[in-house]
Amino acid sequence: MKKLAILGSTGNVGTQVLDVVDQYPDKFKIIALTGNGNMELLKAQIVKYQPMFVGVADAEKAEELKGQVSVPIFFGAEANAQIAALEEYDTLVNCVVSLAGIEATLVAIEKKKNVALANKETLVSAGEIVMRRAKENGVTIMPIDSEHSALFQCLNGEDIKTVQQLVITCSGGALRDKTKAEIETATVAEALGHKTWAMGQKITIDSATLMNKGFEVIEAMWLYDMPIEKIKVVIHPESIIHSMVEYTDASIIAQLSEPDMRLPIQYALSYPERWEAPIKRFDFKKNLSFAEPDLERFPCLGLAFWAAKELGTLPAVMNATNDFMVGKFLSGECRLMDIYATIKAVMEAHENIKHPDLADIKKAIAWAQGEAAVIFNS
Ligand code: MG
Repeated sequence: MKKLAILGSTGNVGTQVLDVVDQYPDKFKIIALTGNGNMELLKAQIVKYQPMFVGVADAEKAEELKGQVSVPIFFGAEANAQIAALEEYDTLVNCVVSLAGIEATLVAIEKKKNVALANKETLVSAGEIVMRRAKENGVTIMPIDSEHSALFQCLNGEDIKTVQQLVITCSGGALRDKTKAEIETATVAEALGHKTWAMGQKITIDSATLMNKGFEVIEAMWLYDMPIEKIKVVIHPESIIHSMVEYTDASIIAQLSEPDMRLPIQYALSYPERWEAPIKRFDFKKNLSFAEPDLERFPCLGLAFWAAKELGTLPAVMNATNDFMVGKFLSGECRLMDIYATIKAVMEAHENIKHPDLADIKKAIAWAQGEAAVIFNS
């Protein structure tokens, strides 16, 4: 039986993790849950799964919850890291959508726990440190994202030295077929109109700008120890092939299925086993198509390739600025293209620190958020 600590259990990925748990009640025990936005849902999850511990980052919300449930509650900015430090669980499922995810991942690695990772910030902003510590502690990071799960499966049992390139597929996002002018003035509703995957708002905007694909490129570099030159992004609107690996002999191995996050989530938890998944099976009645990404219309992907080439603190700066600007876009305070323009300006102004430690990364993130606010308000 796997003993899970699920960080971000009320979010889009977190609820799908619990869907998988519901399919296999005999295989899992929920040791801890953390949430921050939806307290009603967190309360319902506490009643249903009876965790031993709960974490809530917002102290006020935690106080409110305390009166309603009897489980011990960790609260404040360190709540996720405190949960990660517990002895009682064996697998951390990190679905937090913020920088708080980095520290929790590092704590779990130090404790030699299994880590199933959906949190993007961990590898985008602190990939070098996280992978080094994972190696030192003998921890394998199991990716939850569909692309990285696909790459993991396509690389399984192969010699990494024979990889020609990793090919990461991309649905193209909600604005895939729009002109440059239409993209520049896209409304929140248009940018959120993503068809193939059901996801949270922040990541849906990142999919519309292709910034999300840029994050995934950087994550893949760290997870599979690949230089940026060996990673290619291909637009694949049907989202059936979740990514591919091309080998030196020109063979390409792909992983396919209907797009449903519960499959990569389940695989991250069942590996090395494969279990029956409750998702629709691919029926081979769809044609699969491919195209090159258009960096003119989706320049955020170009910024990510730049950050991937430089590394150091630059990816963390890109990520933090994007976070800030997507918040502004979602609240109607800027145009979609302002996201790109501000990230570019902040990245250009950044004095990159190569091989940063965690303090350097935190400092760069705080600097980027301040710089983004200055540029945004000017
Ligand atoms: Mg993805």
